[in-house]
Amino acid sequence: MTFRWAIFGIIKAIYMRTPPSKEQGDINSTDERRKYIESLDAETRHWLEEDAKYFLHQALSTPVMNVLSRTEGPYIYDLAGKKYLDLHGNGVHNAGFSNPDVAAAVIAQLNEQLAFTPRRYTNLPAIRLAKRLIALSPQGLDRVLFCPGGSEAIEMALAIAKQITGKWKTLSYWDSYHGNGFQAASVGGEEHFTTGLGPMVPGAFHVEFPNYYRNPWGLTNETEIDELHLRQIRVILQRHPDLAAILGEPISATPVVPSAYYWNQVRELCDRQGIFLIFDEIIEGFGRTGKWFACEHYVVPDVLVLGKSLGGGVVPFAGILTAEKYNVLQHRSVGHFTHEKNPLCSAAGLAGIDYIDKYGLVENSANLGEYLMQGLRELQLRFPIIGNVAGKGLHIGVDLVKDRGTKERAVAEAERVMYHCLEQGIALKVIEGNVLTMRPALCITRDDCDWILDALGKALTEVFED
Ligand code: PMP
Repeated sequence: MTFRWAIFGIIKAIYMRTPPSKEQGDINSTDERRKYIESLDAETRHWLEEDAKYFLHQALSTPVMNVLSRTEGPYIYDLAGKKYLDLHGNGVHNAGFSNPDVAAAVIAQLNEQLAFTPRRYTNLPAIRLAKRLIALSPQGLDRVLFCPGGSEAIEMALAIAKQITGKWKTLSYWDSYHGNGFQAASVGGEEHFTTGLGPMVPGAFHVEFPNYYRNPWGLTNETEIDELHLRQIRVILQRHPDLAAILGEPISATPVVPSAYYWNQVRELCDRQGIFLIFDEIIEGFGRTGKWFACEHYVVPDVLVLGKSLGGGVVPFAGILTAEKYNVLQHRSVGHFTHEKNPLCSAAGLAGIDYIDKYGLVENSANLGEYLMQGLRELQLRFPIIGNVAGKGLHIGVDLVKDRGTKERAVAEAERVMYHCLEQGIALKVIEGNVLTMRPALCITRDDCDWILDALGKALTEVFED
């Protein structure tokens, strides 16, 4: 080995020790992961090796944990044919994976021979999708702009806020994720996505997301907690009047569900100081929280950012909704994307929305979310490791703790629980190291919920009997 490669090896080893973002989930180089991979069949392991051989390795993606052969509704199937109820789906699967109506709409659109429209032209599916989103969203959101992905939609939202307010600073939340790219990663609150990139977009301030279970003061009273969190915002606003936007997810990814008071107060602060309130609903839109949009639990933002399930789980698509009064940027480009009005993606988006509507999936999310939370709270009575159960609709998190008093995160246990669940066909994602997140497709049934509860109960029993 040459000296150069030896140095490279040392640097790589140092980087390998840098833990990947806890917020984003389970880690792909642990003993538990190795044992799991060894338990897979030879053909799958072969393809995992091929995958690892050709893709550029990066945290949280390559190497991967399994190979999928197909997806259907709320389920994913691996190469060996094993079926899993997927509780993650990256948030694209609100209408279910491989949704037949969405697939049919995409095929029909292809058969129309209109899969793309060059700039300066429009098409009917794009217009229809824009119109449908305006009708579906809360009153006051009357203008639409599409783009290929969520990170770009965040960029557009912030560009509009900056252009219209004439200000440029931003305030967002620690531990949040809003996408890749310099602006989106700057407003994100995880150093994992910015380390090593040099200067990020300046003027990006961060505060803590209100958290009623875990907060720095050990408080439990909601109003007191809200006030202390709001104070963080007020302090920044006093010193930085040139703030263009406050950007956050209405309910955090973990999830933490803020009080209505909190977002009402933030809305008021924004109104008073001419600041845009931007809600990132890339995960939470389209019924995830038991309403079409999570902002319906709270207040109407100046910009609502959508993505993931906007593509019907079949194609990538994202976009923003904003107010009529902000339609004043005719002289600027704020989202100059090649696929801005893509007819194929628009057809998929329309079919996805129609499906969610036709089969009452928003109501299903609200009802089964309640059912699942109730079942999880019953498990909490049996297992002291469950410190907290939080969520809204089918956006649920189970916080595992070593001790309910200290709330020390049960990180190793969470990982083992995750693999035990996986063995039973329940594919969970761990977030923040110890929170089991549950975000299944909205077309799940009560039986699916019982499957989740049964598997989790067994996994917790096994982890404690080991
Ligand atoms: N915001 C949130 C809340 C997200 O979860 C994501 C994707 N995980 C993004 C933004 C970025 O979206 P995309 O990956 O489509 O760029």
